[in-house]
Amino acid sequence: MSQTDNQQMIVTGAGPVGLTLALMLLRAGIAVTVLEKRDTVNLQSKASTFHASTLDLLETCGVLESMQTKGTRIDCVQYRAPDGELLSQLDFSLLKDRVRNPYRMHYEQGELTTLMRDLFVQEGGRLEFGAELASLTQDESGVTARTADGQEHRGAVLFGCDGAQSAAREAVRIGYVEKPYPGMALRLYADADMRQYLPGLSGIAYLHAGEDTCSLLEMHDCWRIVVRVPAGIPESEAMSDAWIVSRLSNLLAIEQILPEVAARDVYSARRRRALAASVGRVYLAGDALHLTNTKGGMNLNAGLHDAFAYAAAAIAFSRSGDITHLDRAAWERERVTRLQLLPRTDENIGTGSERVKRIAAISASPETASEFLAKQAMLDMLAGVPEAMVGNGGRNG
Ligand SMILES: Cc1cc2nc3c(=O)[nH]c(=O)nc-3n(C[C@H](O)[C@H](O)[C@H](O)COP(=O)(O)OP(=O)(O)OC[C@H]3O[C@@H](n4cnc5c(N)ncnc54)[C@H](O)[C@@H]3O)c2cc1C
Repeated sequence: MSQTDNQQMIVTGAGPVGLTLALMLLRAGIAVTVLEKRDTVNLQSKASTFHASTLDLLETCGVLESMQTKGTRIDCVQYRAPDGELLSQLDFSLLKDRVRNPYRMHYEQGELTTLMRDLFVQEGGRLEFGAELASLTQDESGVTARTADGQEHRGAVLFGCDGAQSAAREAVRIGYVEKPYPGMALRLYADADMRQYLPGLSGIAYLHAGEDTCSLLEMHDCWRIVVRVPAGIPESEAMSDAWIVSRLSNLLAIEQILPEVAARDVYSARRRRALAASVGRVYLAGDALHLTNTKGGMNLNAGLHDAFAYAAAAIAFSRSGDITHLDRAAWERERVTRLQLLPRTDENIGTGSERVKRIAAISASPETASEFLAKQAMLDMLAGVPEAMVGNGGRNG
């Protein structure tokens, strides 16, 4: 295949992962086509947490500044008892020698998708809506993708960023292992100022009462209250005022807060990993490769790490013709998924008094607190991402 052909690539899925990867490729002079089955990008409320590792990456592609407008900077995480007692507090500034942006940002996933779409299109990228990947074939020099409307697209490689039900993954018959997490999560979007009820509250806080817990997240226009719904409770019951009051009254002044809850929803989560990140010239990223519990907010962050790792490898491939750059990136992202991302999100699920005690012990020393925060910020999960894109340490792949 000629050098010119190596400059042509396909991304399936205009989600945050696909668009971020596509923008990086476009800026490196690669002719990238994004195929998206919907008629527009998905603005559904999903991820809200962006960790320091990811903020450093987003800074390198110049979007961090734009994210500040609707983003909320979070400088510390608190674990609190409902009566206001601070059980422990960990400050993200402990990461200041390891990253350029030692904080966490709360920001709607849909805002990032919109930002990336606008940049990609403004900078001349080819984004096709209503283009559902239906099948693909591969040969030694590239991939031919066919969309449901019968169009064909040819690229040297194809990145399957088409989400949990990835058609790219199906087409190359990559299987996966998965298990559902029991129960669901309920999210309340409260217009209330939560600091009125819990003075000194940080923008991310976990409230604990015995084995009971809920999370509070400050967004730029509301607070999100997230609480686990045990298995066996139907969605309609979990959404009712009566259930919400009974579930949360030992943690929060929920009866006062409820009239200020503008919206609520429930979702369930699955733990899943694809058995490989690539077959031939098809590479999987984001939800096509991994799904996790949302506690700790890691899955999209990992997907964005995938995007940056593949972008660096794809640029090296486009210049050298050496496909092993991409194969190595795929191998590393599968390894990160299996050995780091999934075990870490499993650890975060632990609730109750044991976890509170463990975190109180960790927060007692700056060294252990810093190590804990580095892991929560996923600094060790950046395998394949070039050094220059993140801060000056904390990475060991
Ligand atoms: C309630 C909730 C809260 C979450 N909170 C967090 C959080 O705080 N932090 C975090 O890191 N993660 C979080 N996540 C996970 C995060 O939302 C996902 O990991 C993220 O959406 C993955 O992005 P993606 O681009 O890989 O996939 P998607 O966002 O699913 O995008 C895939 C795109 O591909 C398109 N597509 C699908 N099939 C085809 C096809 N055949 N052809 C062409 N296009 C196709 C879809 O239409 C879609 O636009 C949360 C998830 C949920 C549900």
